Amino acid sequence: MQPFFGMTEEALSGWARSRGATPGAARALARFVLAQAAGRPAPERPSGKLLAQLEASFALPAAEVIADADGTVRFAVRLDDGEVVETVLIHQAVSDLRSRERWTVCVSSQVGCARGCVFCETGRLGLERNLTAAEIVAQYALAARHLQLRPANVVFMGMGEPLDNLEEVLRAIAVLREPSGFAVPERRITVSTVGIVPRMDELFARTKAQVAVSLHAVDPAQRRALLPVARKWSLPELRGCIAKAPRTVLLQWTLIEGTNDADSDADALAGFCAGLDVRVNLIPLNPGPVPSQRAPSMDRCRAFQKRLRDSGIRALLRMPHGQQVGGACGQLAGTRRPLRNHVAAG
Ligand code: SF4
Repeated sequence: MQPFFGMTEEALSGWARSRGATPGAARALARFVLAQAAGRPAPERPSGKLLAQLEASFALPAAEVIADADGTVRFAVRLDDGEVVETVLIHQAVSDLRSRERWTVCVSSQVGCARGCVFCETGRLGLERNLTAAEIVAQYALAARHLQLRPANVVFMGMGEPLDNLEEVLRAIAVLREPSGFAVPERRITVSTVGIVPRMDELFARTKAQVAVSLHAVDPAQRRALLPVARKWSLPELRGCIAKAPRTVLLQWTLIEGTNDADSDADALAGFCAGLDVRVNLIPLNPGPVPSQRAPSMDRCRAFQKRLRDSGIRALLRMPHGQQVGGACGQLAGTRRPLRNHVAAG
């Protein structure tokens, strides 16, 4: 895959100008190519050899596509060097709470991950390498091509810690939001981090994307046991960072039976949230690498949510998506999962 997939209109224009195109022709070429890549009605087709060069480089990678009965689709995407990352297209149907169906693409930002969270399959892989912006954008393009429409939401919650690959993630966001291309509004993009404190200020400053922080525990020892990253940056440091955020931060809390699902845990979480501009996402644990860890009953999950709400905390209970195809949170295994029938998606 060529890096053109990871280029903004300005960068594509600059590339064409450096090869002799006039500013007007370069802009027209960039807009045409971005519109075509996004599958939207393209403006008039420019002429010239540069277009042929660009078009040839916008082929999508091969992917195995597996659909869950709940509407979720998991893509195992094979990159040029043979590495495999996973992308998940999540469907949320119309419901009492939602008047329109909603599609979200969960993209990976790394092959594997160095952070080693205990309940995460990706964490078991270790880090192989960072993805380029082009490889990140291509995942969205694959999902859009599959769906025949541009999903409105993107979450960086697939394989990898986005803040360990911040430059390429920010570049991918810049491409995804291009009005002449995929045109995903930045506020509909969410970057999830396990709490890489020194890079969070920069993330807040350089993008208007939503930020989600994986919290999971507010007892320091318990958080260190679940998330090795907590040995490096303390909870007060993380909280201080969240307190400075310029907009609402989502706090992710994976509910694990007998670990962090008691009323006392809800009260401690409410205490952590007091005075912060945050919303809490409660995610019942999906089956993962530790067989002894499992999700609490739905009744317990709802009781936990109610206890938070009674304390004045905005808390949503997230239903699992894609569990049957290994596409739910914490289940993405990439190269560990053998690819079956490849589908050339490009
Ligand atoms: S949860 Fe995220 S940060 Fe933690 S190991 Fe998995 S991919 Fe890495």
